[in-house]
Formats: sequence, C-alpha cells, structure tokens
Amino acid sequence: IRKIGVLTSGGDAPGMNAAIRAVVRTAKYYDVDVVGIRKGYAGLIGGEIKEMHSRDVSNVLNLGGTILHTARCPEMMTDEGLDKAAAIYKILGLDALVVIGGDGSYRGLAELVKRGVNGVGIPATIDLDMKGTEYTIGFDTAVNTGMDALNKLRDTSNSHERCSVVEVMGRDAGYIAVWCGMCGGAEEVMFPEEKENINSDRVIQQILENRSIGKRHNLVVVAEGVGGTQKLAQDIQEITGIQTRATILGHLQRGGSPTATDRMHASMMGYHAVKAILEGRENIAVAYNRGRYEILDLLESLQMDKELDPEIYDVIKILSI
Ligand code: ADP
Repeated sequence: IRKIGVLTSGGDAPGMNAAIRAVVRTAKYYDVDVVGIRKGYAGLIGGEIKEMHSRDVSNVLNLGGTILHTARCPEMMTDEGLDKAAAIYKILGLDALVVIGGDGSYRGLAELVKRGVNGVGIPATIDLDMKGTEYTIGFDTAVNTGMDALNKLRDTSNSHERCSVVEVMGRDAGYIAVWCGMCGGAEEVMFPEEKENINSDRVIQQILENRSIGKRHNLVVVAEGVGGTQKLAQDIQEITGIQTRATILGHLQRGGSPTATDRMHASMMGYHAVKAILEGRENIAVAYNRGRYEILDLLESLQMDKELDPEIYDVIKILSI
C-alpha cells in the first residue's frame, strides 16, 4: 500500500475533520502517501486533488464542517460519471479510497467498488441513520446542539407559560428527535419510526393532561421526517388556547465544534480505516458496535439491520409525568 485518497461526501457532520486528520496522520506514520479530494465525488470526477501531509491537518481537530468541503454529486448516478471516477482513481495510482460520509456516500462507493476501486467507508452523519454501525460521526454534537436549544426554549417557554414545538433534523430517522426529547425533557416526541402511531391529537391531548396536573409550559419535539411543525403549533394553540411557538432548528445542528465523543470516534475510526487498509482488507466499512470498533464488509454493511430502540420513547413518557 503506497497511496490512498480521502474525501468527505454528502451532508457535513462535526467530527469529519477529526477523521480526515486521523486518516492523514496514520497514513503518514506508516509512510503511505495521501491525497485529499475536495468536494466529495465531484472533486474526484473534476480532478480537485492535492497531496496532504501532517501539517495540512494541524488545528482542525476542533473545527466543525470539513476542510475538504463536501458536495452532492449527481454525476455519480450515471454510468459515465462512475466510470470517470473509477478511471481517475486508477490514474492517480490509489490503493484505496477512504470516503467519510453517510448512507448515500456509501452507496456511491459501492458502485465504485464494482468498477475496481478499493472502497473504505467511515460513517459520518448527524442523523445516525446508517446500517451496520451503532455510531456515526457528528451525532453527539448535533444532539448536544439540539439539547442546548431546548434548554433555551424551555427558559422562555416557562416564563411565558407557553408551549414550544421544536423541529430537529434527522432526515427519515428519529434518532436525533428521541435523544433531544429525552435529554431536553420533552413531554412528547413525534418521530418517523412511530409510523401509523404518529398522531397530533395524542400530542394535544397530552398537553391538556399535563396542564391539568400542574405543568405550566410544554415542550414537544418533532423530527424533520414527520414535519408539519408550524401546522402542529397552530393546531395546539387553536384547540388548547395555550400560546404556542414553533422553532425549526435546521442547519444549526450541522455546525459547531465537535464534542469529545465525536472527536474520539472520528480519530479511532480514521486510524482503524488506515490500519485495515495496511492489513490488506478491501472494500470495508469501519463501524462501532457493542463498545468496539469493527471492520465490516462494505456491501454487507449496507444490508444490515438497524432499529431505533422503541423503549427510549416509552421512558420519555414515563419520565414526563
Ligand atoms: P449522505 O452521504 O450524507 O447520505 P447523499 O445521500 O446526498 O448524502 O449522498 C452523497 C452523494 O453520494 C450523492 O450526491 C451521490 O454523489 C452519491 N450517491 C448517493 N447514492 C448513490 C447511488 N445509489 N449511486 C451512486 N452514487 C450515489
């Protein structure tokens, strides 16, 4: 193994820089050359590539976002684009391509594997919605940002005896929502995994009940994948007469300096990715399961199961009385 490439792709996540740093420095430690590819697969196809050394990743451990920048690249959805990306990988003489990104980025990488690329995935998305791994880089920072916002909204909603409805990110998954709900002390959480049980009447009923047992303000978390937050706030106000405000946190949750948890996982996963490449492993995904880092088969990891533990929601309800 002489030379590897690294890129960040899809939605950015705090901790991506810590992962880039770990990949570059571990490679350098073992005398492997590294090229950084800008803007994800777009930069691979467009040739935005430069050599990286240890000093290029100085002072980035603490930074949110990604110094390599990221992008969504529609060309990867075409045979032509995929062939071009694989051809550039070969021209560059790469022995592996490390992709730090989410589910979509992994699927793109799986297509490149079919074209002869040695693909290595490091899971990074604030949404936690990746199969095969219990942790994805960026989740902890995003949840902490959401929790801070809930703390602040709680202050003002308590002072005015209002109801606050807060929409958090997560795409089609409810991990951020249930974590924010639990850690921010919400009395209700609406998240996509509830499926047919998603019900605004239940939420409104709960608010009325909670007022009747002496609660003076209300906090409801809605997952992005459920949506309808403004409408829910209006309905709550109309039906209950309680002043209600909707807040959509949006991309706020994508930014910020990564937490210790994200820096730790990103550093360890970056290290394990390079170690596995050096050991001759091919087409792999780094994962964290049951307290350990694992090296999985990339294609198999995409097929694995992952479920949100429904007990979290049950506990939120028990603790909200
Ligand atoms: P994330 O990696 O955060 O899930 P996206 O779903 O936007 O983000 O995926 C990032 C990029 O990965 C896409 O813009 C595209 O270039 C590539 N990609 C996603 N899905 C596929 C696919 N099925 N085939 C090829 N490339 C894909």
